[in-house]
Amino acid sequence: MISVTEASRLIQAQTLSLPVAEVPLPEAVGKVLREPITADRDFPPYNRVTMDGIAIRFETYRNGEDTFRIEGAQLAGEPPQTLTNADGCLEVMTGAILPHRTDTVIRYEDLEIIERKGGRYARIFEAPKARLQNIHQQGTDRRAQDLLIPEGIWLSSAEIAVAATVGKTTLKVTGTPRVAIIATGDELVDVHEIPLPHQIRKSNSYMLQAALRGQGILAAVFHLLDDKATLLTELKELFGSFDVLIASGGVSKGKADFMPEVLQELGVTQVFHEVAQRPGKPFWFGKHPQGPVVFALPGNPVSTFVCYYKYVRPWLQACAGAEPDWPLKAVLQTEVTFKPNLTYFLPVKILVDKNGIWKVEPVNIGGSGDFAALLAADGFLELPPQPNLFRPGEIFPFIGFRQ
Ligand code: AMP
Ligand code: MG
Repeated sequence: MISVTEASRLIQAQTLSLPVAEVPLPEAVGKVLREPITADRDFPPYNRVTMDGIAIRFETYRNGEDTFRIEGAQLAGEPPQTLTNADGCLEVMTGAILPHRTDTVIRYEDLEIIERKGGRYARIFEAPKARLQNIHQQGTDRRAQDLLIPEGIWLSSAEIAVAATVGKTTLKVTGTPRVAIIATGDELVDVHEIPLPHQIRKSNSYMLQAALRGQGILAAVFHLLDDKATLLTELKELFGSFDVLIASGGVSKGKADFMPEVLQELGVTQVFHEVAQRPGKPFWFGKHPQGPVVFALPGNPVSTFVCYYKYVRPWLQACAGAEPDWPLKAVLQTEVTFKPNLTYFLPVKILVDKNGIWKVEPVNIGGSGDFAALLAADGFLELPPQPNLFRPGEIFPFIGFRQ
């Protein structure tokens, strides 16, 4: 039996190199960029007015003029106008291109509009500080051809905005792996069915499907019975079509737990079986030399859940080339004892104290089958095999599963 640390290391050593996919811009968020994004024009692309007001020639004001005849208005989206008289002005709106022959913008707050015979005038009562004030000058943020986003960046809404402004309708990103979820068990029926007294509806496959959606992966779902011959034929069929198999159930010591032997008979190399942890000890992990990576997770719903968030999710992130999540830590609020020398994934609820510090409190759970207890939890606190007593105020790694 190996440790949690060793299991994580062995899994991370099996990352897939995923192909590049081209996706429509709105679908690229959360993926990893596989092409450099450069500026197609200057940022901003023209001298952009940043305040509603008037545009004047600074020189005219400096020569003692404070009242300017309004020649017209320059709105955002219009081609640039030209100021006719050096002692005139044009009204300008935020986002408009600066009119030709003007170089300074005075906000409406710093002037008054005077209606006179022969026209409208603007009288400035708050002196402009300098030429070019309230103008976002062309090319001051970025220059045309500048590299804006390098390859390998995880795309957030900020990168999507920049890609949009340079006209990228699609982006090359790291593609998602083809993932199959496999529920095993003769006792399982589907969600729309009425289970007999000795049956249950499958929930693990839905949990995994939902969790994978959070990684942008739409997985295919299968249900296989606890029959060795069936497992041999049906699993084999999946090998050619999927890069990753995530199974639940059939990896413990029961009479119908055939997964480890079947997978090995089918040529999947076992990397490990059993991890010194609770829940999730019977976890089996392997890789087919020409086929998929196989996570055969224990079927107890909390075990499946813990193993997904502790091992599968960080592995998928590594395959995508994304930085791993921040290693979060949380402060234990209540004393916990756990005797066996196993890493204990304690379901916990987050409480934020008055200083904004995350504290966590254990959630009552009736063992690894009690997945309804997770409704009250936000994640798991990873308590090491030693010591056996964990005190309030001590800090441990936290694995969250909520947004
Ligand atoms: P196993 O790992 O196959 O021995 O299953 C352990 C426990 O988890 C058993 O009580 C199973 O009924 C339950 N279980 C297995 N697969 C699922 C599933 N897909 N959804 C809900 N419970 C399951
Ligand atoms: Mg089973």
